[in-house]
Amino acid sequence: MTAPAIKIEGLSKSYNGSDALSGVNITIPDGQFFGLLGPNGAGKSTTINILTGLVRRNSGNITVFGKDIERDYRFTRSQIGTAQQELSVDWFFPIEKLLQYQAGYYGISPKKSRGRIEELLNRLGLWSKRKSRLRQLSGGMKRRFQLAKALVHNPKIIILDEPTAGIDVELRHELWDYLRQLHQQGKTILLTTHYIEEAELLCEYVSIIHKGKVIAEGAPKNLINKRGKAGITIHLKQWEDTLQELLKPYTYTRKKSQLHFTVKDAETEISKIINLISKNGCQIQRVELTKSTLEDVFLSLTGRGINEQTK
Ligand code: ADP
Repeated sequence: MTAPAIKIEGLSKSYNGSDALSGVNITIPDGQFFGLLGPNGAGKSTTINILTGLVRRNSGNITVFGKDIERDYRFTRSQIGTAQQELSVDWFFPIEKLLQYQAGYYGISPKKSRGRIEELLNRLGLWSKRKSRLRQLSGGMKRRFQLAKALVHNPKIIILDEPTAGIDVELRHELWDYLRQLHQQGKTILLTTHYIEEAELLCEYVSIIHKGKVIAEGAPKNLINKRGKAGITIHLKQWEDTLQELLKPYTYTRKKSQLHFTVKDAETEISKIINLISKNGCQIQRVELTKSTLEDVFLSLTGRGINEQTK
């Protein structure tokens, strides 16, 4: 059997005495599309930054194709291409030059990288911009450039930190298509996301990370079947603050006047919830029963929605 693409065991990290990661274990087989899913502050970037050598761990083991990321860092870094959230590159060179330099870090000569760069720029719709500086590119183009930069040395593993955060729907779908293609070509992909939809759509396997610990893992479908509960969405005419106290016994999230409940048994709970709300004089406009999603899994595990800061 071949070694896993990435194996993380007992990974811990603290910043100024406060734990960012407490004993994280993750195994990603070669060729898997893997998602590290969790709310802001869960520890996703810290995990990735340790994996790519930007941050030092306090304890734990990490191997890439069986080799230690510190002892064999030359090998392990050559296997990985990373697209970080922040761009930390020179703004003054044409983007094709930046890609050439990036390839150079991996010992690939300009002559050898030329074809690959042309192919990537074409594939990512950046060929006509090859002579432009980064600051002349739109936000979406910068994202695509980041991906080109991660791929220029043709790594086996691609790590993407929140690849679609803050980009429009159209580009998000384009990127998803491209990531699916890379996966089909046999690449191992690790992406972090706090978009449940993204993890459900793309990933074969996810680890849900919360407060520095992996609290659940599995194929999205299995997680949903095992832990997911039914969802009830109630659209109110108007939210009333008095509802907060009344609904305390329930696990729910709220977006303006729309409430999403996660319950074990929708049929018995739905009438109770409706009664409770209407007794309070609130008007209900619409009620929907929804299939369980990873959001319901997260909610049932943590008691709060993935994008909620506090409750
Ligand atoms: P995520 O990527 O899931 O949003 P992070 O890995 O960025 O989470 O953060 C995990 C925790 O570590 C958070 O509490 C964050 O405030 C803290 N943290 C991250 N980076 C630093 C740093 N450089 N210095 C101090 N605390 C940090």
